[in-house]
Amino acid sequence: MKSSEIRQAFLSYFERQGHQIVDSSSLVPADDPTLLFTNAGMNQFKDVFLGKEHRDYRRATTSQKCVRAGGKHNDLENVGYTARHHTFFEMLGNFSFGDYFKRDAIRFAWEFLTEELQLPKEKLWVTVYKDDSEAEEIWFNEMGIDQSRFSRLGEKDNFWAMGDTGPCGPCTEIFYDHGPDIAGDPPGGPNDDGDRYIEIWNLVFMQYNRTADGELHALPKPSVDTGMGLERIAAVMQHVHSNYEIDLFQNLLNAASKLLDGVPTTEKSLRVIADHIRSCSFLIADGVMPSNEGRGFVLRRIIRRAVRHGNKLGAQDNFFHKLVGALVKEMGDAYPELIREQAQIERILLQEEEQFARTLDKGMRLLEQDIAALDGNTIPGETIFTLYDTYGFPVDLTNDIARERGLELDYAGYEKAMAAQKEQSRQASKFGVDYNDSIIVEGSTDFTGYEATEGADRVKAVFVE
Ligand code: ATP
Ligand code: MG
Ligand code: MG
Ligand code: MG
Repeated sequence: MKSSEIRQAFLSYFERQGHQIVDSSSLVPADDPTLLFTNAGMNQFKDVFLGKEHRDYRRATTSQKCVRAGGKHNDLENVGYTARHHTFFEMLGNFSFGDYFKRDAIRFAWEFLTEELQLPKEKLWVTVYKDDSEAEEIWFNEMGIDQSRFSRLGEKDNFWAMGDTGPCGPCTEIFYDHGPDIAGDPPGGPNDDGDRYIEIWNLVFMQYNRTADGELHALPKPSVDTGMGLERIAAVMQHVHSNYEIDLFQNLLNAASKLLDGVPTTEKSLRVIADHIRSCSFLIADGVMPSNEGRGFVLRRIIRRAVRHGNKLGAQDNFFHKLVGALVKEMGDAYPELIREQAQIERILLQEEEQFARTLDKGMRLLEQDIAALDGNTIPGETIFTLYDTYGFPVDLTNDIARERGLELDYAGYEKAMAAQKEQSRQASKFGVDYNDSIIVEGSTDFTGYEATEGADRVKAVFVE
């Protein structure tokens, strides 16, 4: 089954079960300052779950554009390292607004996977939230799931929340076992916990609203929100392990390979590029413009990452914008905004490529020199700062390069250099001299430093969103 056929099969299955097919909402969340980009199918229904908004249907189904490149769900650094993460992906979902609850949610999902798609039951594994005996009983007694492929997990995996505040609840997840050949798992990204058993579908039992004080309040009506990654289920249906091997990505990768001297489509950097052309194009189609703050800065960072990976593969010329055509061919039918905005997307990407190309080579040379002269394995803060300030290398881009070489970044030193520069320009402005004249990218306004992420020893850039 092609990806587009799976999307269609999903929507029509749920339509037959009385669900209203609703269009994907924009990647820029409407009136929701708590959210960087749309990160799940339920976002557009947030107020319906909260009981603040009413629709004339109580069951809905969507194929939702999602971007996870910042905020609570951030997969930017997984791209290229795992078989299953993208910055942009499509989330297939079915929703109940105070209509059906656990029993039907589980039954629909199981029926869709094992009857509609005919997946073998023995390849499907299930998890539930540790306290959710009700869901567990439905799985055992009604779906007949085998004990040996079942487990209870805690908050981190089986309690879903769209952000720090908002609707949330316990969930049950379905995984597909890609088999023991994957046992030597490719080393995963920082958030990766393995690629043999790939999570395909999350069924969330929306029961609470978390407020800013951290309190959970019961929602007016228990509801259901599910999400299944189209690319992941397509990989299963197409008997491939990695999302990058599905039809849609193969076409994008082939197009990218043609532009880059026939680089093999299994090349990690090519996969990053194929991933990034989707998020960048869809973000621009939804009105995000590259800039030095907020959403626009995330977009700029993704574009620069893609350009750097192209450069690494030996790109001689601006190449990134040339991939838009292949994407439009692949996804324009399902998302006509891509067709409508194609010229604009190409223009903006080219402009960004040109701008970054002016400093990329010089920045890389500086970095190579500094790496060659390194004593230990930590890139000094001064270098990170100069790359950022003078050559337009967002810090996560420098980190991307460092990670490829097994090096680390001195974030504290970087912050110090940043603070010193701020102080200097504050002093200078007193005298009316602008020392920032020569600075190509001023991006410090929204930068708030680094923070250790929970359970991980890496550090992550935190941007005010
Ligand atoms: P994972 O644990 O693999 O990172 P998740 O638990 O973060 O996934 P959910 O928030 O439960 O994902 O989202 C629902 C579904 O969306 C997942 O089961 C998966 O099929 C899909 N999905 C989530 N993140 C991505 C991504 N970055 N790229 C592609 N598909 C994704
Ligand atoms: Mg995740
Ligand atoms: Mg998960
Ligand atoms: Mg999940």
